[in-house]
Amino acid sequence: MATKAEVLDFIRVYADKMAEHRQELTDLDQAIGDGDHGINMSRGFKAVIEKLPAVEEKNIDDILKNVGMTLVSTVGGASGPLYGTAFMKASAAVKGKETLSNEDIILAFDEAVGGIQYRGKAVKGEKTILDSMIPAIDAIKTSIANGKTMTEALVDAEQAAWEGVEYTKTIIATKGRASYLGERSLGHQDPGATSMAYVFQAAKEVAL
Ligand code: ADP
Ligand code: MG
Ligand code: MG
Repeated sequence: MATKAEVLDFIRVYADKMAEHRQELTDLDQAIGDGDHGINMSRGFKAVIEKLPAVEEKNIDDILKNVGMTLVSTVGGASGPLYGTAFMKASAAVKGKETLSNEDIILAFDEAVGGIQYRGKAVKGEKTILDSMIPAIDAIKTSIANGKTMTEALVDAEQAAWEGVEYTKTIIATKGRASYLGERSLGHQDPGATSMAYVFQAAKEVAL
């Protein structure tokens, strides 16, 4: 279950994480991309926080939609449209809901990952955002199906996300800028998979 206050908390906690891990994400992107992932994510979420007061009183779906639109309009790189689409799809999935049930949360994550896949045309195993996101969502589903609470499921999700991040070190990038490196992308951790793992860490900390 998640209330509107928890959704707002999640957005604030994640924005703080993007500011805190700006250099780490940028360093990762320096190795296999153009060294701006931390800059992109922190800039995007700084803009999100600036616009939050204007939508705080609105519905959960309006808040999520505003996050998505802000990311699309303020982040130039691949990550802006991808994260932006994810938030917009999550918004559409919870339209009109006052609070989110576990089913709503799972649907929102499913729609978000579907949006990223539609937009970026990637599948799991291409060294992208999806390599931490898909295992994390699978972990949520498995844990909920096994009778765990959403709080417990998010602990499992974060762990699965970090395992996914580790996995990106072992594969060659076939999407995004890192794909230009071919085999030289091996051994490096994907920046986008890392920023996505922080999504599940933030959700766990807020315990949606
Ligand atoms: P850019 O590559 O345009 O500079 P960023 O550095 O902000 O954008 O984001 C890079 C991250 O985007 C990569 O580490 C990867 O995880 C993710 N990414 C790139 N292309 C795709 C895609 N097609 N699908 C999913 N994620 C992608
Ligand atoms: Mg980059
Ligand atoms: Mg860039």
